[in-house]
Amino acid sequence: MVRYTFTMLAEHHQQLRRSLLRDENEYGALLLCGRSRQIDPWTGAVEERALVREVVDLPAEAFLERTPTSLSWSTTPLFNLAKKAMAKDFAICIAHSHPGNSLFFSAWDDVADKESFEIVFGRMDTERPHFALVMDRSGEFLVRSYASSLTPHNAELVRVIGDRFQIRYPGRDRTANPLEFDRQSRAFGARSTEDLAHLRVGIVGCGGTGSAIASLLARSGVSHFLLIDPDRVDITNLNRLHFATRSDAIARRHKVDVVGDAIAQIGLARSVVRLKAHVDSPECRDALRACDLVFGCTDDHLGRNYLNRLAYFYMIPVIDLGVLIEPNERGGYDSFDGRVTVVQPGYTCQVCRQLISPQKMLEEGMERNDPVRYDQYRRAGYVVGGADPSPAVVTLTTEIAAVAVNELLHRLTGFRGAQGHCAERLRRFDRIKDSDMVPGGKRNPDCPLCALRKYDGRGDMTPFLNQS
Ligand SMILES: [Zn+2]
Ligand SMILES: [Zn+2]
Repeated sequence: MVRYTFTMLAEHHQQLRRSLLRDENEYGALLLCGRSRQIDPWTGAVEERALVREVVDLPAEAFLERTPTSLSWSTTPLFNLAKKAMAKDFAICIAHSHPGNSLFFSAWDDVADKESFEIVFGRMDTERPHFALVMDRSGEFLVRSYASSLTPHNAELVRVIGDRFQIRYPGRDRTANPLEFDRQSRAFGARSTEDLAHLRVGIVGCGGTGSAIASLLARSGVSHFLLIDPDRVDITNLNRLHFATRSDAIARRHKVDVVGDAIAQIGLARSVVRLKAHVDSPECRDALRACDLVFGCTDDHLGRNYLNRLAYFYMIPVIDLGVLIEPNERGGYDSFDGRVTVVQPGYTCQVCRQLISPQKMLEEGMERNDPVRYDQYRRAGYVVGGADPSPAVVTLTTEIAAVAVNELLHRLTGFRGAQGHCAERLRRFDRIKDSDMVPGGKRNPDCPLCALRKYDGRGDMTPFLNQS
């Protein structure tokens, strides 16, 4: 079985609404989509995910007939888009509206879609699926996929990514509110709890912040976890690593096993996938691409850079967090901060926010691949970062983890109101008043990721994430 899913940015959703819902008659548009194909590690099924890159608005002349319940259009725009899509193996999504507020694919749609996708498959020498979308008067929409057999399959999940994070899936609102989450549902509604249970959430780095995130998410109702971390517990982790015990440190157990076993034992999560690897190693690719969103809890620059690219290429929001405590010689602190940064198309990337240092990436690469040479460099004074471990305090790593999880909860529920989202939040732990700051996030005008937006929804390509 193939699991079909669909991701669209809120800005494209808005554009599509404007285009399709212009009057009382049906209207059509075409979408160009990147693709993501991976094994979903929670089910073992293949997932085919469409990532909308572009909404092609069609002129009124493209339509031969428009009525409140029917639409017929010229095949020329579809021919042209298929030609464009073929070069990069993009998917095409054929969208139309049902302004009479009927959110389903009609028998007429079945016939029309089949004819259209026959044309698309005839033009493109690939077996990969294409998609169809129908939108009702309120802007809600349904998606289904067409493989080359021309049999439709409903999308199991639809994501709309913007300042809010919205998901849709069959059966939403039909399940009972579980008693375990009764008190939370009284705050946020049962639907939010249900949404959380549907999300596939990656946690990259299972140290102080990552283990706190895992604990908070499990108690909030997240049910599908992916934990990635190559490290093992040692005795110096016990001051902040939630769930870790002295015997875990003595046995040098993997952090993902300590955290994974613990959240499984709470008895709320359904499935915890663990990978004992660096996030940028090829074995993590499928699992990461199968996520709906990712918490970046790693303090290495290679890992942060990798997730930064993933967020744009695959339109998977990354909520990155970190704590920076730097004591100085005068008995004070140069910084005493926690940070939560949301990375996704439309937002400033972490390279432009100067959270990723190319020099540090070089050093980390050398340390990993050529430890002897790295040690020579370090002793010769070439390495920027000190060899000493950085300060870490459990209350602060846990506090910033709660800020990060609340950012997700707001994006799902809207509990902070219309302007409650925050792309980057800096918390000064050493302040009482004005402790939170919101940095502006200036973009480098040449940044291919967040300024030129070359890779929004680019999806699968060689080399992966266009980096070798
Ligand atoms: Zn229709
Ligand atoms: Zn950028």
